[in-house]
Amino acid sequence: AAEEGFDIEDVEGAIEAAGHGPIPVLAVVGRPNVGKSTLVNRIIGRREAVVEDKPGVTRDRVTYEAEWAGRRFKVVDTGGWEQDVLGIDASVAAQAEYAIDAADAVVFVVDAKVGATDTDEAVVRLLRKAGKPVVLCANKVDGPSGEADAAYLWSLGLGEPHPVSALHGRGTGDMLDAVLEALPEAPAQTFGAAVGGPRRIALIGRPNVGKSSLLNKVANEERVVVNELAGTTRDPVDELIELGGITWKFVDTAGIRKRVHLQQGADYYASLRTAAAVEKAEVAVILIDASESISVQDQRIVTMAVEAGRAIVLAVNKWDTLDEERRYYLEREIETELGQVAWAPRVNVSARTGRHMEKLVPAIETAIEGWETRVPTGRLNAFLGELVAAHPHPIRGGKQPRILFGTQAGTKPPRFVLFASGFIEHGYRRFIERRLREEFGFEGTPIHISVRVRE
Ligand code: GDP
Ligand code: GDP
Repeated sequence: AAEEGFDIEDVEGAIEAAGHGPIPVLAVVGRPNVGKSTLVNRIIGRREAVVEDKPGVTRDRVTYEAEWAGRRFKVVDTGGWEQDVLGIDASVAAQAEYAIDAADAVVFVVDAKVGATDTDEAVVRLLRKAGKPVVLCANKVDGPSGEADAAYLWSLGLGEPHPVSALHGRGTGDMLDAVLEALPEAPAQTFGAAVGGPRRIALIGRPNVGKSSLLNKVANEERVVVNELAGTTRDPVDELIELGGITWKFVDTAGIRKRVHLQQGADYYASLRTAAAVEKAEVAVILIDASESISVQDQRIVTMAVEAGRAIVLAVNKWDTLDEERRYYLEREIETELGQVAWAPRVNVSARTGRHMEKLVPAIETAIEGWETRVPTGRLNAFLGELVAAHPHPIRGGKQPRILFGTQAGTKPPRFVLFASGFIEHGYRRFIERRLREEFGFEGTPIHISVRVRE
């Protein structure tokens, strides 16, 4: 490395940064209007239009990446939706339930000017039951005079209330220090305690694609789907199911089985549920409804799984409904609309007839294998050397940037760091990704490539 003009510490630092693996998840919960979205904007350090969102408009994003004092984590925002038909207590409980379940730690936001309400107390009970670390944020303490209001919140029994003004930034640094103390280094539920345990699968897809039907089919038993209101009291439940002689853990199956019939906020619940399930899983099985056009919502779900870095399988369900013509158009649609996961193994199934159910497990295994693939550095560099010689980067400004060497910094999903003599254009990065896939497989997995340029 040194002779190529890179400082060895530089190289090691870049590899460590790229190989960070999955990062812990923080959920921000609380009643409407306590300032959750304002706080999330503060934490992620961006002025995204979260607060300006019109009520009732579905946000397509509920998780954000953040960094504080050099540590990275994800934030799940539960603001931005209206109280719905369930009434306030049940609505707050339902959203908190999903978010808490996916989180490694929770920030519970209370409006210090209002004090603790019955709804707040209900969330406290949920938090107790979940047993996750909690940081209590006493928000809207815009000046020293508000500190006394914050102190009243000791009564919630969640420890020290952190006086914060999400709006002006007052106290947020101290609160974030407490958050870092509460957050584990790596997400426990996905990759910590359960290592060596059953693989975790999230069945995701928009409402009515057939998640519940598929789950029942693979579990090989007919379960009665109870007509239940959205998650008022039940915990999301993971279910162990044996398939192909192997035990798998299907995560958040209670969320799948719940029949959510809400006039407002249903899409939002669906997004939150999907995000929670994806965070908890290693593999996302994304269901697509063959009988309908691929929608923006399908694409959002795909993006969520890709961005979370999960192993991915596409299951095109309701295959029994296809006639020849529809089938032709479906293939074109999948090609154009789901191009971002063209590398994912695909199974064409019918939860109704049981068609091709036996192909699901092999597809999942293929995706996991790609997700865990590690390319030895020697092999990678032999491949890169040949590639760069045969297909050099285009000359720019009289110079030809070159990939000098590379290494795989991590797996689950595979992460590569390439070291270059100059700026590597986007198109060339894409080309390298394509060739890496051709050479080493990586079926069913996103791959990350970062490029370090020599000073
Ligand atoms: P959410 O529903 O919990 O996400 O709450 P929002 O973030 O949308 O905030 C609700 C209202 O409270 C908005 O009008 C915010 O501007 C206001 N707000 C949020 N944080 C603070 C704060 O620290 N101080 C004051 N005075 N107002 C705040
Ligand atoms: P979920 O909302 O994703 O859990 O979807 P459900 O499992 O509740 O299914 C929604 C509807 O699609 C129900 O009426 C199912 O009977 C129907 N359905 C599910 N899978 C299939 C399938 O493979 N073929 C057909 N024709 N219908 C299906």
